[in-house]
Amino acid sequence: MYSPAASANSSGIASGSRSQERARVVCANCATINRVPRARLGEDPKCGSCGKALLPGTPFELDKANFDRHIASNDLPLVVDFWAPWCGPCRMMAPVYEQTAARVAPDVRLAKLDTDQAPDVAARFAIRGIPTLIAFRNGREIARQSGALDLPSLLRWIKTNV
Ligand SMILES: [Zn+2]
Repeated sequence: MYSPAASANSSGIASGSRSQERARVVCANCATINRVPRARLGEDPKCGSCGKALLPGTPFELDKANFDRHIASNDLPLVVDFWAPWCGPCRMMAPVYEQTAARVAPDVRLAKLDTDQAPDVAARFAIRGIPTLIAFRNGREIARQSGALDLPSLLRWIKTNV
């Protein structure tokens, strides 16, 4: 009944009927929906399909094709940075965003959407200026921030809102 946790084994696809609560985590690389026991989110879980780290603590790129899946099928809160390559404040915030991703992992995931590549997604969320950060939980927008933030402010915004 009680199996010891095999810490090095991360191929957790097979066994069907465990009663541990699992969080759905969409792979940033292949968009497969993984179900990871919540207790093991901090153990560097790997994608059951492509083998890449699911929660590496770095921002990942969203695009038009995978955006809705990441918003709808993730059980972890997700922050999206709506940005564009020509936007100076966006580029200035990029290193801050990377540092923040490492700090808030594995509880919160940080992603980026290039609004030049996906203008229709930006329009759907009525993005008027960039950078704009939107936090999502369970498929719904829970907080929004327009304008770049420094590291302490971004950490505080996530802590307060996400
Ligand atoms: Zn994958």
